[in-house]
Amino acid sequence: MEADLLVVGAGIFGLSTAYHYLRENPGKSVLIVDRMGDVGQGATAKSAAAFRADLFTSATNRLLAGTSVDFFLHVQEEGYDLGIMKVGYLVLRSRDQFERIAEVAVMLERAGAVRIYRREELKEKLQINYEFPGDEEAELLNIKEVDYGIFGYKCGYMDADKLAYYYRDRIREMGGDFQFNTKVERILVEPEIKLGIPREPRAWQKVKFSGLETNRGIMRAKNLVIAAGGWTHLLLDPIGIDCLSKPKKRQIFTVRPRTEEQRALLNTTGFNEEGVLPFTILPTEHYIRADKRDGTIWLALSDEMRPFSTDDEPEESFYYDNIYPIIVKYFPQLEGARIDNMWAGLYMINSVDHNPVVFRRSNMVVATGDSGSGIMKGDAIGRIAAALIQGRREAELFGGERIPADRLEVVGRSLEPESFVF
Ligand SMILES: Cc1cc2nc3c(=O)[nH]c(=O)nc-3n(C[C@H](O)[C@H](O)[C@H](O)COP(=O)(O)OP(=O)(O)OC[C@H]3O[C@@H](n4cnc5c(N)ncnc54)[C@H](O)[C@@H]3O)c2cc1C
Repeated sequence: MEADLLVVGAGIFGLSTAYHYLRENPGKSVLIVDRMGDVGQGATAKSAAAFRADLFTSATNRLLAGTSVDFFLHVQEEGYDLGIMKVGYLVLRSRDQFERIAEVAVMLERAGAVRIYRREELKEKLQINYEFPGDEEAELLNIKEVDYGIFGYKCGYMDADKLAYYYRDRIREMGGDFQFNTKVERILVEPEIKLGIPREPRAWQKVKFSGLETNRGIMRAKNLVIAAGGWTHLLLDPIGIDCLSKPKKRQIFTVRPRTEEQRALLNTTGFNEEGVLPFTILPTEHYIRADKRDGTIWLALSDEMRPFSTDDEPEESFYYDNIYPIIVKYFPQLEGARIDNMWAGLYMINSVDHNPVVFRRSNMVVATGDSGSGIMKGDAIGRIAAALIQGRREAELFGGERIPADRLEVVGRSLEPESFVF
């Protein structure tokens, strides 16, 4: 049987694409395949699931994230729990760092999206070390002082599993189907018009992507979507298609507060209604997610000097070498914090501009290049990919704003580079 649409990858990008395609084309046959046993088991499950609607330097990223976050908030308001905690984002910056993004920060503050705090104001709310006079170790560790905090209002975190289940259940309601534990080995490239001659397709023949070779046999479809996260290039490289993105391992370590001071961190007041530490980015780019519901503190760092690879095994040594020594300089209350849990996943990094990559070639659409912020842009990516499958020139994002469907195309790309990549 030939499906109308075959989607590789049941992560947020593949799910959202299938959902919007079905919403706009009721009755079409859609099959989503994934090598894992359920939806959202790749990077989607591994993410911190944080969102920031406006805190991007790229206007395109702001549009993608802003409309997606509005959609997620709408879903939650409608009564479907996505586990959203609107605790805010607090990006702590040194003077030098702030000056580099001051123009955008001030623009966002004027628009009411963020509040810029000076060090003295921050000190009243947040018990951390702001400066490190005479601390040779801090100097060696390249610790930067905290001079500013940019607090984003429409920001926080959600539950990535719940988000994946939301899309999965809607897809099923609309007749879409899933096939799990199915590994795609190869995209089938065949001539549009088969001549039955040897070595087809020849270079002069028009080709289409007619289906997939999987560990469970051949699957055929009129249209394909490749949304295979950090493994997307493995399917595209053999057919000579560049997705402008490569994977890097990203790790999260959780610790459980054991002292009064550590518990007090979870109860930081003055930023949000929940009375919890906002999702905080340090000047060293380490980030902290304090989860009051399960009483854990999540710690992470996106390290630059790491090979591009699909290795996604967490390394305990990464925490002790690269996270703990820096975190305790800023948060001395975390002295002694040991790993309670850890995991790793892949960012699919587009180093050119750190905006997502979505494009169409023949009857195939590719959605990738999340660059570490794909959950929060997931709904908009699905709408753009669904528009491309249908050959539309524009996609309508949640709230009605329209975007050219080829805005995230590889060829002739001209997007504002993103500075806020955490
Ligand atoms: C540690 C970490 C923290 C993060 N934190 C955040 C955050 O706070 N906020 C945010 O917005 N984003 C965050 N991200 C990024 C976010 O997780 C990704 O942007 C998002 O999940 C990308 O979704 P995807 O659908 O492209 O990929 P995935 O979720 O990885 O989905 C791809 C799917 O394709 C399947 N697949 C791949 N190859 C094949 C094949 N050959 N055959 C069959 N199936 C295949 C995989 O099994 C997988 O299920 C984080 C990522 C990591 C790793």
